[in-house]
Order: sequence, then structure tokens, then C-alpha cells
Amino acid sequence: MNDYITVIGGGLAGSEAAYQIAQKGIKVKLYEMKPKKFSPAHSNNNLAEIVCSNSFKSNLITNACGLLKQELRLLDSLLINIADKTSVPAGQALAVDREKFSQLVTEELKNNPNIEIINTEVGTEGLHIKEMSQNGIVIVATGPLTSDDLAKEIIELTGDEGLHFYDAAAPIVEKDSIDMNIAFWGDRYDQERAKNEDIDEWKKRIEGINEADYINLPMNKEEYEKFVNELVNAEVVELHKFEKREIFEGCMPIEVMAKRGLDTLRFGPLKPVGFTDPRTGFRPYAVVQLRQDNEEGTIYNIVGFQTNLKFGEQKRVFSMIPGLENADFAKYGVMHRNTYINSPELLDATYNFKKNNNIFFAGQITGVEGYVESISSGLVAGINACLRFEELKNITDSNQTNINNFKSKKLKIFDIHTMIGALAKYISTENKKFQPMNANFGILPELSEKIKDKKDRYMKLSERSLEKFNVSNILQ
Ligand SMILES: Cc1cc2nc3c(=O)[nH]c(=O)nc-3n(C[C@H](O)[C@H](O)[C@H](O)COP(=O)(O)OP(=O)(O)OC[C@H]3O[C@@H](n4cnc5c(N)ncnc54)[C@H](O)[C@@H]3O)c2cc1C
Repeated sequence: MNDYITVIGGGLAGSEAAYQIAQKGIKVKLYEMKPKKFSPAHSNNNLAEIVCSNSFKSNLITNACGLLKQELRLLDSLLINIADKTSVPAGQALAVDREKFSQLVTEELKNNPNIEIINTEVGTEGLHIKEMSQNGIVIVATGPLTSDDLAKEIIELTGDEGLHFYDAAAPIVEKDSIDMNIAFWGDRYDQERAKNEDIDEWKKRIEGINEADYINLPMNKEEYEKFVNELVNAEVVELHKFEKREIFEGCMPIEVMAKRGLDTLRFGPLKPVGFTDPRTGFRPYAVVQLRQDNEEGTIYNIVGFQTNLKFGEQKRVFSMIPGLENADFAKYGVMHRNTYINSPELLDATYNFKKNNNIFFAGQITGVEGYVESISSGLVAGINACLRFEELKNITDSNQTNINNFKSKKLKIFDIHTMIGALAKYISTENKKFQPMNANFGILPELSEKIKDKKDRYMKLSERSLEKFNVSNILQ
């Protein structure tokens, strides 16, 4: 068996994973294709390049990404430590001097005696994941713009449905923030069946339901028209040059659909047919549906609302929907180029690949979304790759040499009450409509007590997470 662990991709996740492994005294071969080859978004020669905004989001622990960063600090994350060191003034956010950040990460890894950096593209030149994982452990952390040759290999490994190249996701809201005095439960077909029932009987029947597939938000004519008018005039995100318009064929942004005519949405995703608003006893003019998004039912996505609107505009315009006036958005909708695998099918909560346990995935390619989230998955995959390495070393020392079929017994799953653990759980839990996910409070298990005030609730959730960081407690 190899006496090192291979990490493919020296971005945010791969750099963090390499550091975590080296810290355990294990050798790392880190393959990075730059500067020989650049993705369409990368341009400097250093590792851990920040491709867009220089912000790592809020530092407050009443913010989900702030909590994630705090957890990473407690776990000795190299990249968050360097982000702190290279921070620039940005109010409550942690923003970095991007050049200094990447330069410091590169120097740290270059000077580490356990790390060898090899500037070659994997997927070419005789370097292939399959062979690399025959005799050792491999972490694939090649990011949202994984090179084409390697993407082909990943499709071979994961199967045809295993890899997505674009992400067209609708916004997700926290269930607790939906006004349930306006909303009603039920699916279209259930209501179709109920059509002939006495309205009072029907109301009684649905009153206790809170496990139906959909939460429905009815709109009257005036509300609908006002909403559509704002939607078609809202500001959209400028696409990067490499994100061609064609990628959205077959998956049209809601604002583009709305521009086709005032009634288009009412005959599309906001179709009211088959619904009766329990408040009026009549069919609404339009209905917005929300579908459960996680196992616990704490977050819901807005069905058919994949969008390119700027985040601020999503908050403004979608909060006009009756029932969402005070909605907390766990995640905003996005439509962008994004290579990611179907993790709920393919990975477990340690980021280990179920079809070949010698392979781990880390970073945005696993369906975590964002800089800090990518770092977090790199840290978890790195720690677990080390644990498997030690186990494999023991079995090869005792001459049981078939390392490929060996099932690790000692991998560590992070507590699901922590943001790191909740993200790992989210990406590895069955989900037929899997979309990448960023850190948000909606993916944490609910508190045992109901706390109405949002700030207080988030503070309690953060405190509960950080309590787990008596480091002996953090791992389940
Ligand atoms: C255009 C764009 C803008 C984004 N903006 C933001 C933002 O503002 N805020 C935010 O939080 N997130 C943003 N993201 C999302 C995401 O958080 C970042 O892409 C983040 O860098 C992901 O980290 P990663 O380690 O998974 O991938 P990366 O940081 O992209 O690292 C992957 C590395 O692998 C290398 N590589 C690829 N293929 C191979 C190969 N075959 N062999 C060897 N090396 C290879 C690449 O050169 C790269 O260095 C953006 C993504 C994109 C594409």
C-alpha cells in the first residue's frame, strides 16, 4: 500500500484536506493542474484561489456561516486561520486580501515536509483515479469546474446519473418562518379528491395534517399581478462568460417565464387548479407550492422557482408572496455552472465514496456550496482519509493485503447538531431532488423548545453546536 494519501485539486477543499493529513504525520501528494491548465474561472498560480467575491461571509455566530467558521477554528482549520490573518475591514463579515490569502496557503503547504505538490492534471498523462486508488487513498477535490477529462472519469466511477454540470436551484426557506395562518397543507390531487366534500368537513380533515408533501400559499388576483410585475423588473445576476445561456434550456428561470405573459405562471408552476383556499372556500387565483427539502422537514423549497435574480432581489420579491412576508431564506436560488456528484446516492457522511472506499470526495463537487462549506468538507474528508489510512496500514502490516474491499470501521461522523456535521448529513441523506447546499440553520435539528425570536433561536442553536466542541465530544 502507498505510504501517502493522494489529494486531487489544490483549491479550498483540497488544500485544507492536505494540511489536515500532513498534521497527522502522513505524507500527501497534492495534484493541482495549475499553472499548466486553468479552469475558466481560475487565473493565478497559487493554491486555494478565491475565484469570485473575497468574502467568507459573516463572522457572527448568529449567522450559520459564522458558526461554521467558528467550528472550523476550533478544529484547527488552516484556511480559516489564514483567512483571519489576511482579513481586510468588512464590518461583521470576514473578507480577505485574496492574493495574500492564496499566497500564504501556498507557502504553508509548500514548506510542509509531508506535502509534495505536483502540478499536473489528473485524468491525463497516465494519472487516473481508478489506478491511483488501487494501492492507496485518494481525495477528489477538483471543484465546480473540474477538468473535462477528469469529469469523464468521475462519470465512469459514479455511473451516468452521478455527475451534474449545472445547478439550477430554487430558493429554500425555513419552515418556522412561513406564516401558517395563510398557508395550507395538501397536494393538488388530495384537494381534487376533496372537491366535492363539504368545505367545513374538508377543513376539519386537513387541520391536523402537517406531513403532506406541500405547503401551499394562495394568492388573489391583485397579489399575483403585483408579484409578477416586480418579478419581471427585478435585477438579475450577470452570468460569467463561460456560463452560456443554453445551459438553462429545459429549466427556465421563473423571471424569464414570467416575462412571457402575465398569465404564464398561473398556467405553469403557480397553477391553482385543484386547490381550495380554506380561508375563503374558493379556488385561489394562483398558488405557490413549497416542497419539503430535508428529512426533518425544517426547510422547504419553492417549487419551480429556479432563478437568476440577485439574492437581495429574491428576498424582496419572493417576500411579496402571501405567507412569506417574514420568510428566512436558508438558501437563495442559483443557476450556474457547477460540477457536483449525486452525493446522497454516492457518499456517506464522512465524504467516503460508497462504491470504492479508497476514494473520498471533498469540496463543492460533493454538493456543499460556498468557500467555507468547501473548506469544511475538505477538513472532514482529510481527517477520515487519515483514519482509513491507519486502518489499512494495520491490515497490510498483518499481510491482509486486499485493501480495496476493506470496510473502514473507525471513520468519524461529525455530530449532526454542529454545522459541519449537519452539512455532511445533508449531502449524504436520501434526496430525490438533491441540490447543493450552503450552511444554514434550517439543516440543524430543531431545538427542543420553541423560540420565536430569530436571533435568540439562532444563538441557542449556535451555543448547542459549540458545546459539542469539547473536542472529545465533537465526533459521534
Ligand atoms: C465562478 C464561480 C464563482 C464563485 N463564487 C463564489 C463566491 O463568491 N462565494 C462562495 O462562497 N463561493 C463561490 N463559488 C463556489 C465555491 O465555493 C468555490 O468554487 C470554491 O472555490 C470551491 O472550492 P473547491 O475546493 O471545491 O474547488 P476549487 O477551489 O475550484 O478548487 C479545485 C481545484 O482543482 C483544480 N483541478 C480541477 N481539475 C483538476 C484536475 N483534473 N487535476 C488537477 N487539478 C484539478 C483546479 O485548478 C482548482 O485549483 C463560486 C464558484 C464559481 C465556479
